[in-house]
Amino acid sequence: MSHLQLTDIDLAFGGHRVVRKLDLRLEKGRIGCLLGPSGCGKTTVLRCIAGFERVAAGEIRLDGHLVSSRDLHLAPEQRRIGMVFQDYALFPHLTVGENIAFGLRGMSQTARQARVTELLATVGLPDQGGKYPHEMSGGQQQRVALARALAPRPALLLLDEPFSNLDVDLRERLSHEVRDIIKATGTTAILVTHDQHEAFAVADEIGIMHEGRIQQWDTPYNLYHRPANRFVADFIGQGVLMRGTVLNDRQVQVELGTLNSAVPVECGIGCGGCSRNCAVDVLLRPDDIIHDDASPLKAKVVKKAFRGADILYTLELPSGTRVLSLVPSHHNHAIGEPIGIRLDVDHVVTFHEDTADAAAPRAQALVRIDA
Ligand code: ADP
Ligand code: MG
Repeated sequence: MSHLQLTDIDLAFGGHRVVRKLDLRLEKGRIGCLLGPSGCGKTTVLRCIAGFERVAAGEIRLDGHLVSSRDLHLAPEQRRIGMVFQDYALFPHLTVGENIAFGLRGMSQTARQARVTELLATVGLPDQGGKYPHEMSGGQQQRVALARALAPRPALLLLDEPFSNLDVDLRERLSHEVRDIIKATGTTAILVTHDQHEAFAVADEIGIMHEGRIQQWDTPYNLYHRPANRFVADFIGQGVLMRGTVLNDRQVQVELGTLNSAVPVECGIGCGGCSRNCAVDVLLRPDDIIHDDASPLKAKVVKKAFRGADILYTLELPSGTRVLSLVPSHHNHAIGEPIGIRLDVDHVVTFHEDTADAAAPRAQALVRIDA
């Protein structure tokens, strides 16, 4: 049995269903993430796991024990869960050491002190136990909050947007550090964030949430390269959808040519082998379209975004269709210039034209070429 198991949980505020038949499984020692736009229900799910909200239906099991169902609700303090919040929530009148020791009241004085010293070292703040929170930077305070949450060796650690109050540079560095610390302590954890870069930096597996449901639970690689539906394709990374026709289970024709897929192409209606020339929308990521001076296929530069090592070009095909291409930035081309491109797609992701999967935006609406 998984270490954490949510089965069909449901929750509404007033008449508003915020969590809908949500399922989640997480094995011991893994870091999971709920990633989704603001208001999709991430914090509410975390609060259900922690025991701050009651579920209307379904059940939550932690380490095999039922902690939440419609009829049973274990109090938060009985769940052995540690939490880290966006605003650190340290006690301002306690020292850093006292903050970390806060959840260790059952221990002897010596054992507590040893644990605090150990955790200060773990989070990279040795000898800082005598300071007060206001004497530390935001990043340091968040590491203290992490140490405090880890001190009682929780069965599960929950982190709700823990990096949102930090500036961008620090956010990235701390997210890697936090992952290392969680992994070093062997803690099972769930992170909640709306920021995919944070999710990728910290988590082993990620659930994309939309309107109270998990749309896809997968590795970062698969979310980007094998999105299960249009919502996930749109939310993760960038790309365009291009009309195509399935020729057979390994080939799709688009206006740029024939795409050959290393895995069977699914048209979405399950006709098997697609002898019917099913019409689909094909997902093309910026890294699927390679700039190649030698290619006879040309597209006109209509926009460019300099990103340091790369330039993200928005290119227009003769038909007027636009695509994105990520190109090493020494290939610096001017707006209006035609450049050679070729396709490099090994796994063709298609969505059937008529499926309104997951509140999908219609075909071209996925195109985000204003980035
Ligand atoms: P997220 O963390 O993904 O931004 P939340 O879980 O905080 O989303 O909220 C999901 C939805 O539930 C939002 O529409 C929010 O307004 C609503 N909501 C959250 N908490 C409450 C509450 N205590 N009472 C009423 N509505 C709430
Ligand atoms: Mg939230």
